[in-house]
Amino acid sequence: MVAEMFEIMYENNGIGLAANQVDLPYRLFVLNLSGDASARDEEMVLINPVIVRRKGTEEESEGCLSLPGIRAPVVRAAEVVLRAYRLSGEELEWRASGLAARAIQHEVDHLDGVLFIDRLTPQALEEIQDQLRELESAFHEKRSLGAIADERQIELRLRELEAART
Ligand code: ZN
Repeated sequence: MVAEMFEIMYENNGIGLAANQVDLPYRLFVLNLSGDASARDEEMVLINPVIVRRKGTEEESEGCLSLPGIRAPVVRAAEVVLRAYRLSGEELEWRASGLAARAIQHEVDHLDGVLFIDRLTPQALEEIQDQLRELESAFHEKRSLGAIADERQIELRLRELEAART
């Protein structure tokens, strides 16, 4: 599943992807800050991640694979300390700043059901309102054509995963 997540991430030119963005009911995300599929040594899998410390603030433009084409400035902590498990099961404590800190906060937010557009100033949100409406109608259209799984299909897949586990 993690290999598939990396594949989807690279195909869409992302640097991070949270499991629930691709309908997987797990608290994990993958990262490759280089965005380079051939840089395998840059790949990270963070399982049950918890941000235990945040320091400072920094504003940078962000985008998201779940909201293609949209970018807006988001204020985040400048530095974070993340605790998580690697795919090997090994515990990890990661003190991150810059792009790594931003990506970590963005992905942990996904796992908590928060999108970067939920963190915009009212003004910044207003500026992307038209793009959001377009995305929303494109989503409903794709769903009605069966190009995107509907609630029932997602529910079925979750039940299959549950059955496979027991
Ligand atoms: Zn995202």
